[in-house]
Amino acid sequence: MRIANVDGRAVIVLETGFVDIARASNGRFASSTRELLGRIDELTSWFADEAPTPTEAIERDELEASRRLGPVVEAPSQIFAVGLNYRTHAAEMGLTPPPQPMIFAKFASCLAGANASFPIVSPRTDWEAELVLVVGRGGRDITTDAALDALAGYCVGQDVSDRDLQMAGSPAQFSLGKSHRNFAPVGPWITTRDEVPDPNDLEIVCHVNDVTFQDSTTHDMVFHVPEIVSYVSSVCELRPGDLIFTGSPHGVGQGQKPPVFLRSGDRVVTTIAGLGTLRNHAE
Ligand code: ZN
Repeated sequence: MRIANVDGRAVIVLETGFVDIARASNGRFASSTRELLGRIDELTSWFADEAPTPTEAIERDELEASRRLGPVVEAPSQIFAVGLNYRTHAAEMGLTPPPQPMIFAKFASCLAGANASFPIVSPRTDWEAELVLVVGRGGRDITTDAALDALAGYCVGQDVSDRDLQMAGSPAQFSLGKSHRNFAPVGPWITTRDEVPDPNDLEIVCHVNDVTFQDSTTHDMVFHVPEIVSYVSSVCELRPGDLIFTGSPHGVGQGQKPPVFLRSGDRVVTTIAGLGTLRNHAE
């Protein structure tokens, strides 16, 4: 099942249309994705039993490229991100992966829809293609065995990064440098976990102006998805709708020789196999 935020309302995306969840369920389920995600199994059962007809006709490809898509969760209580979670990316940044997951925050006001544009805020504005985990049931002290069941599903994310602010001092300032306006496009929709047998077996690709810069697999993560969920939940309670960016593979602009950074007008296209594509413009 694919759950999107279209025009600010939670919908289920079908091949040739979408179902407005609150309307089709006569209010049994809420119109915001965040409120649904803790009840994802109930929603999945309802959808299978009722097989509701689309409330609006639109081809899935057309919706995927549309600006009507908002962030998959509008106002999550927390957005975590993992730094240096691919060895080849750590190496291109001149760093070694830490012994436990390196966690920072992206602040909620930087969330954007799948096809949003973002500003060039410094001469070193960079891209990072990432798998994003969408928390379902959540909880505290989640074991690695129970970790995937605590999630609602997965989506594509761009961890847009202002390297000037991120690296302005020592120690580095990750959270603010990655939280400018629209620096967290996520989407195009949440693909529920039942359709993703192994989140660490997905191809992840990023093109900038039609040049392939990133082409890896989520198998190459240092800390795989269950370990990330377990680690974060050992400190912070994970709540329905929380998002976790899982780190970028190699091929970011900073890692090129010489480095390449985004300029106004550039197009960043980020795809994860089976989850969809983000199309973002630098303003
Ligand atoms: Zn990142």
